[in-house]
Amino acid sequence: MTVELICVGTELLLGNIVNTNAAFLAEKCAQLGLSMYYQSVVGDNPGRLEGLLREAVGRSDVVLLSGGLGPTEDDLTKETAAKVMGKPLVEDARARAEIERTLAKLGRDITENNWKQALVPEGCKVLYNPNGTAPGILMEEEGTCVILLPGPPNELIPMFEDQVAPYLEKKQPQAIRSKMVKLCGIGESAAETRILDLIDAQKNPTIAPYAKTGEVHLRITARAEEESRAYEMIRPVEEELRRRFGDLAYTDDPNVTLEQAVVEMLKAHGLTVATAESCTGGLLAGRLVNVPGVSDCFKEGYVTYSNQAKEKLLGVSAESLKEHGAVSPQVAEEMAVGGAKAAGADACVAVTGIAGPDGGTAEKPVGLVYLSCFCKGKVLTVKKQYTGNRGKVREYAVASALTLLRKAILEYGRRTDVEW
Ligand code: ATP
Ligand code: MG
Repeated sequence: MTVELICVGTELLLGNIVNTNAAFLAEKCAQLGLSMYYQSVVGDNPGRLEGLLREAVGRSDVVLLSGGLGPTEDDLTKETAAKVMGKPLVEDARARAEIERTLAKLGRDITENNWKQALVPEGCKVLYNPNGTAPGILMEEEGTCVILLPGPPNELIPMFEDQVAPYLEKKQPQAIRSKMVKLCGIGESAAETRILDLIDAQKNPTIAPYAKTGEVHLRITARAEEESRAYEMIRPVEEELRRRFGDLAYTDDPNVTLEQAVVEMLKAHGLTVATAESCTGGLLAGRLVNVPGVSDCFKEGYVTYSNQAKEKLLGVSAESLKEHGAVSPQVAEEMAVGGAKAAGADACVAVTGIAGPDGGTAEKPVGLVYLSCFCKGKVLTVKKQYTGNRGKVREYAVASALTLLRKAILEYGRRTDVEW
């Protein structure tokens, strides 16, 4: 089944707003196994929209439109779509009642043009909108399906997920399901090399690697008659990937982030953690605090950008700073050990590096970062050399810090010198 997307709005053409609806809808359609061959943006112009919609209806099974369902004069998606599909507009009683109710709740006066939103093409399915006044519309006519969605993402997203996705899923005879094995601590080419034979032999399921900052995600996708069969087909591939990557795989849930996985591990081991950051300036603490419930294990985050702060807050020695410099394995280690002590935490992960664009030397170039993690008496320290601008270097350093912390917890879990 083919699907095509038309986003309506002069604001989009002018670059005043970013077309996030297109990214959202394209990704969702791909997950549903629909093939999208065309995406267009058109301004609030009835003639051009009509021409484009006629073309789309002629070549695609499903046409999704976003935007232009509002009450104002320039909102003309519904009128144009009804014209193309040859349907008159009629008032929908429930839509009218809901508009009344929504506007009353918002304390807004009802203006004459609000009633325009209660008009729908005859014989269509109305997609009621609990998050706004404009209802969505689903029209189906001789194998062509046209679906109109409101422009605001907070209305479009739930309407698509709750009402459109289940409908499209039923129309599509095949179930397409995916799982995602997420890796950290390995680069994209190294990861791909390890599974080249699987990728070369793949048909159904398929394996697709995606590079993220400091992570590689492997999406396994299977097509089958039924959902349960698709998951059955995915299982042995997933097991094989886990076997090959071992500890580098941190989750198979697409919604679980690296920081979430790390926080889960800290909690499972009853460990508390602190952060000591120089070049990342709080980004690492920010990633950890993304996780709800992190307060159970996150004790303190130190931003120690200056040498003075490293000495004062973390007890880094003036000699080490002088002798080795702030960006050195010695200082990284003292930051980790000192941070854990100062915070009274079981573990502390420290980052010190040269984010650039200035400050690099031949010996210590921009992108050089030392990371150190103290965990219950043991310290792991690593050196990294990243490329990219200041923002990228800092993002990579945060991903490496989380990966190092994860490694330290894994090692702690295997230690025989601690009592369980
Ligand atoms: P309204 O009832 O708010 O007028 P509408 O369905 O008529 O909704 P538009 O007028 O086209 O939609 O857009 C309203 C707002 O929705 C825009 O100002 C913008 O903030 C957001 N929006 C519209 N289209 C998109 C898009 N493709 N991607 C992201 N946001 C969008
Ligand atoms: Mg509008």
